[in-house]
Amino acid sequence: MLGQMMNYPLTISSLVDHAARYHAETVISSVNTGGGVEETNWGTVGANSRRLGDALLKLGLEPQARCATIAWNNRRHLEIYFGVSGAGLVCHTINPRLFPEQLIYIINHAEDRVLFIDRTFVPLVKAIRDKIPGVQHIVLMEGRDEDAAAEIEGLEFYDALVETGAPDFEWPEFDENTASSLCYTSGTTGNPKGVLYSHRSTVLHAFAFNTPDCIGVSARDVVLPVVPMFHVNAWGTPYACAQVGARMVLPGPGLDGPSLVKLIDGCKVSIALGVPTIWLGLLGEAAASGSQLASLKRTVVGGSACPPSMIAAFREKYDVELIHAWGMTEMSPLGSSNQPLAKHADLPIEAQHKLRENQGRPPWGVELEIMDEDGNPLPHDGEAQGALMVRGHWILDSYFLKSRDETLTNGWFDTGDVATLDPDGYLSIKDRSKDIIKSGGEWISSVDLENIAIAHPALADAAVIGARHEKWDERPVLVAVPAEGQSPSEAEVLEVFEGKIAKWQVPDKVVFTDVLPRNATGKVLKRTLRDAFGEVLIG
Ligand code: ADP
Repeated sequence: MLGQMMNYPLTISSLVDHAARYHAETVISSVNTGGGVEETNWGTVGANSRRLGDALLKLGLEPQARCATIAWNNRRHLEIYFGVSGAGLVCHTINPRLFPEQLIYIINHAEDRVLFIDRTFVPLVKAIRDKIPGVQHIVLMEGRDEDAAAEIEGLEFYDALVETGAPDFEWPEFDENTASSLCYTSGTTGNPKGVLYSHRSTVLHAFAFNTPDCIGVSARDVVLPVVPMFHVNAWGTPYACAQVGARMVLPGPGLDGPSLVKLIDGCKVSIALGVPTIWLGLLGEAAASGSQLASLKRTVVGGSACPPSMIAAFREKYDVELIHAWGMTEMSPLGSSNQPLAKHADLPIEAQHKLRENQGRPPWGVELEIMDEDGNPLPHDGEAQGALMVRGHWILDSYFLKSRDETLTNGWFDTGDVATLDPDGYLSIKDRSKDIIKSGGEWISSVDLENIAIAHPALADAAVIGARHEKWDERPVLVAVPAEGQSPSEAEVLEVFEGKIAKWQVPDKVVFTDVLPRNATGKVLKRTLRDAFGEVLIG
C-alpha cells in the first residue's frame, strides 16, 4: 500500500522560492569584483534567478545542459545557482585556481554550453577560448562593458541576459533525482573527476546542514561563506541559507584577513565558514586591528584538519565556537561535524574542549564505517584505524560518465581517509591513506604531528611527510615554514612535541622552507613535498 501524502519533489527552485516568498526583505550583501558592497535581498535574488532560468531556456539549451561558472562569491553567482538548476539545467562551478590545461579538460569533459565569468577571469578565458569550442555563450557577470567586449569575441552580459527572461516564468517540473549541479574533484592524481549532484541530494543535504547538531543556520543568522562557491558549492551554504531565509554576506574576491574582519564587523556576521588557512589570516588581523569579532558566534572549519590551537584561539580570545567539520566533494560535502552530546555537559571543562577537536559525528543521512584491507568492519573503539567508508543520501553513486563499479566497493564509497570511530560515532581522521607514515609496521598520523607543530609560536605553517628510511621504511620529517622574523633551530622546533606524543613518533628531522605547496583548494601537496624531501634521511 502506498502512503497517501502529496508527492512534492525536492527541488532547488523550491528553496529560493521559499526564501523569496517568506524572507523577501532579508538582505544579501555582496562584494563586487571591482570593489564596493552591493545590497540586495532574497526577493530580488529569487526574481532574478527566475528570469535567468527563462532567459537560458530561451537560448535554446537542452534540458540538463551544463552552464559553468568561473566566479567569486557574489549575488549574481547566487542567482546563477538557483536560476540554472531551477530551469532544469546543471550548474557547473569551476575552480579558477586550476591549471589552464585542467580548466580546458573539465570544460570539455562536462560539455559546458554556457560559461559565466567574473571580470577577474576575462584574461584566463580569453587565453583558452579556442580550446573550448563547445561553449556557445560566454557571459560576463556584469552590465555591458565595452572594454571586456573588446577582449572576447561575442561576449554577452549577465544583466542584459536576465532582462530577456520573464518575471512570471514558471519553473519546469521534473523528477527530484534530476541532476542539478556538477563539481570536479581537485585531482591531485590523474584527471579531475566529476561529481553530479541531484536536486534531491542537495535539498536533503541542506536539511542536514541546518540541524542544530550540524551547522544549524536559522533566519536570525548572518552567514558568511568564505569557502568559495566553486568549492563543493560553498559546502552547500547557499542552499541551506535559502531554506531558512538567513541573511548572507558574499565576500567577493578579497579573502584576506583585513577584508574579512571588515565584513564581519560591518555586516554583523554571526556564522562564517572556511578552510583553516583562511582563519589564520583572520585571527592575525583581528589581533592586529583590535577587533573583538563581536557579532561572530560560530565558525565552521573543514577541508583539512583544524589545528586544536585554532579552536582554542577562537574560544578564548573571541568567545567564538568553532565547529570542526569533515567532508569531501563526493559527499556534497558534509560527512560529520563536531558538537557535544548531552552526557558531555558534566565533564570537566578541559575534557569538553578536548572532545571538540576531532571531526565529530555524522548527521542523519550519512553512515560511516571503518574497514580493514579485506573489507571487514573494524571495532568502533576510538583506537582501531581503518579505511573510512561512507554511504548515504548525498554521497555519490558513480562519478560523472563513469560506472558504479568503478566508484563503489560493495555499495560503500572509499573516502581515501584513514580514521578511527568511537562508540558514539565520533570520527577522528588520522590521515589520507596515501599520506599516513608507516614506520616499522606502526602507523604515525601526519595530521597529529602537524597539529602539534603548528602551535609552535615560531612557525607559520607546517606539514609532515613520511621520508624513506633504511631501517624503518618510513620516518616522519617535519617541513616547517618559520613565522616572519623567526629562525628557530631544529632542536627548538622539536621541543614542541615533548610530552605530547610517544617519543618514537617525533619527527626524525626538520627541514625549513619558505612556503608549502598547495593545490587549487588550498590543501598541502604532500606528493610534491615527498618528491623534494622524501630522501633526506637516506645515507
Ligand atoms: P573539499 O573540497 O570539501 O575539501 P575534497 O574532496 O577536495 O573536499 O577533499 C576531501 C578530503 O579533505 C577528505 O577526504 C579529507 O582527507 C580532507 N578533509 C576535509 N575536511 C577535513 C577535516 N576536517 N579534517 C581532516 N581532513 C579533512
